[in-house]
Amino acid sequence: MSTHGKRTIVISNGTLIDGTGNSPARNEAIVIQGNRIKSTGRLPGDIKLEDRDNVEVINAAGQWIMPGLIDAHTHLSYGNPKLPGEARGKGTTRPEFNTLRAARNAQQVLRSGVTSISVPGGTWFTDVAVRDAIKVGLIDGPRVYCASRMIVTYGSIEDEEPSWVGTPEHSIGVLANTAAEMVTEVRRQCKHGVDFIKMADSRSGEAQTISKEEIAAVVSEAHRHNVRVAIHSRGSASTRAAAEAGVDWIMHTDLATEADLEAVAKAGVRIVPTATFVERVLEFGREVGQDQIQISIDRMKRNMEGLVNVLQRALALGIKIMCGTDTGNYSWMPYGKMHAKEAEIFVRYGGYTPLEAITACTRDNAFAVGLENEVGVLEAGKLADLIILKQNPVADIRVLQESSNLATVIKDGKKVDLADHVSEEAPLTFQEAVA
Ligand SMILES: [Zn+2]
Repeated sequence: MSTHGKRTIVISNGTLIDGTGNSPARNEAIVIQGNRIKSTGRLPGDIKLEDRDNVEVINAAGQWIMPGLIDAHTHLSYGNPKLPGEARGKGTTRPEFNTLRAARNAQQVLRSGVTSISVPGGTWFTDVAVRDAIKVGLIDGPRVYCASRMIVTYGSIEDEEPSWVGTPEHSIGVLANTAAEMVTEVRRQCKHGVDFIKMADSRSGEAQTISKEEIAAVVSEAHRHNVRVAIHSRGSASTRAAAEAGVDWIMHTDLATEADLEAVAKAGVRIVPTATFVERVLEFGREVGQDQIQISIDRMKRNMEGLVNVLQRALALGIKIMCGTDTGNYSWMPYGKMHAKEAEIFVRYGGYTPLEAITACTRDNAFAVGLENEVGVLEAGKLADLIILKQNPVADIRVLQESSNLATVIKDGKKVDLADHVSEEAPLTFQEAVA
């Protein structure tokens, strides 16, 4: 659990990376009162470090202080790893067990220095429940901004069953084959408290499965409810249609052409390339071979080339890119391990400086969690979500991927207990436990 600390926390000394893109700078003090940052820079005269009853001092000398990481693409409730007896595809037939597991997944995410996540899709309204349990303080976890089951048509990703079966209640897709059906689903999800609607086109960009008019109908309905819209789109035509229909952000965009990207730039739509997932498919595919993996490795090689082009062109065209990883999408996308892998990819392939990649993971990603101007930047008035690192992430961006580099995580003005008290006890597998 979070420590219920003193009224004021002062982080003294250290190098501040404020998330705005400013160069790292020596900092005297960050003062946190309640759940907000009161000041950075000089220590205000009215704060007495000797007042140990009311002031907790964290000495960050020789360390780096930056905003808490934000992952713009993490799934908590996809039901991985699969439980015994569950069918193929994603989702779960054990929603209650899966909800508890989603809560634990969220805790692992927070302990890795990720203080906010955007959750584009899951089972039932599991993520809404986890979000609210965190919000009211029942459990620890990052700030969660979430969708529910993704809206799909025949032929979209996650429409896994024959048409006479459809998408069962326990799957992560929900079929809607007309604009009217989609609008009804948007209303249903809004009624149950989602922050945004997730739509999904074809799995790898093989065909466009949702029309521009249908996307526009969803956008119009969702926006009237003050709910945003994101879409899974790897293809060219679907990406162009999504941009022109006014979605809030597009996930993937692998096969977007120059003309598509110009349309995205013109519409001012953000993208979450999620190259981490594709890179992981290629890496994992090499390890285990094509037979063990449901995704075409050859196709993903082509998509990775597309993504590298997208990253480079987005910089040139001024498209805002957000950092997401697809953690939780498969059991080989574990929690707490790769939330900053995307930043490394931005630097390695995209032509970003480490500082630009950090800004993408913090200030720019705040949009994906509906908290632009509230998190992702360390300055007076912002919510107090930050991490303190033992190594310099500007010298080596990979520093952000290793939890052992974390000295301190503060979320909502409270220090996070970084010890994983459960995994130290090596929990039984589900099979062992219920045998
Ligand atoms: Zn995803």
